[in-house]
Amino acid sequence: MKIIRDVDAMRELGRTLRSGGKTIALVPTMGALHKGHLSLLTAARQQCDYAVVSIFVNPTQFGLGEDFECYPRPFARDCAVAERHGCDIIFAPEAKNMYPKDYQTSVIVKNITQKLEGASRPEHFEGVTTVVTKLFNAVGPDAAIFGQKDAQQVLVIKRMVADLNVPVRLVVRPTVREDDGLALSSRNAYLTADERRAVPLIHAGLSRVTALYEGGERSALVLLGALRSVYERTKAFKVEYTSIVDTRTLNPVDYLDSTVLVAVACRTVTSRTRLIDNIVLGGLL
Ligand code: AMP
Repeated sequence: MKIIRDVDAMRELGRTLRSGGKTIALVPTMGALHKGHLSLLTAARQQCDYAVVSIFVNPTQFGLGEDFECYPRPFARDCAVAERHGCDIIFAPEAKNMYPKDYQTSVIVKNITQKLEGASRPEHFEGVTTVVTKLFNAVGPDAAIFGQKDAQQVLVIKRMVADLNVPVRLVVRPTVREDDGLALSSRNAYLTADERRAVPLIHAGLSRVTALYEGGERSALVLLGALRSVYERTKAFKVEYTSIVDTRTLNPVDYLDSTVLVAVACRTVTSRTRLIDNIVLGGLL
């Protein structure tokens, strides 16, 4: 496995591989790799000849007061884990290499970035779309693999790729969960033992919504009521939002007759860890 730290070197290697007729799949990550990331790596290996995992804790997608400084960065372990799972190339650029001094350019997707996550993290998606564009430019992937765990991110990147005619195929993989339903996340490491016991309720609420939906319930009001009543059972976390939105517009729906995203964000009370989760009903992302 190669470890590449420089944007130009990555571009050169990508060019060499492509000119030899090889295809490249990219898995963008911020590191602290877990089984969710590894499921994306598996998909990358199935999709293309070469699998690249990028590891970059992107400063521009963190807001003031967020966890950029303390975000886990176990780089040596990540490299070992990725290599064991068949990664061909780790691309781990330095921030100063990715963002030249005095950079003034960013990629902005409009409306859908203002809702859900965007409402409480106003600059987050501008950081995401800009860094993903930079990673695409450095690697030149045929396919890029993303997790449903960050469903709004998937929809924003899909919009960007369609709007800017970016020559890459997007692949979305389902959320990988612990046995008790908790979605794997690098941020789960921040949880206290008591919080860890409480947070599977996040997924339990979503499962309740799935069960009601499968039983024929289509009223968003009823489904959100059921979701919120599950979350009222704990004091370990506070809900930031629970929403049922159309996957094309991210606007709330009253009645579920299209593909919808049921999205939840909450913050635990003691460690102040922000967790998100979701399900998609009536179709795929
Ligand atoms: P991150 O390192 O958190 O930026 O995530 C990198 C990629 O891994 C994104 O496409 C995420 O959606 C995806 N991902 C994160 N957690 C999971 C999970 N539990 N299951 C599947 N994919 C995930």
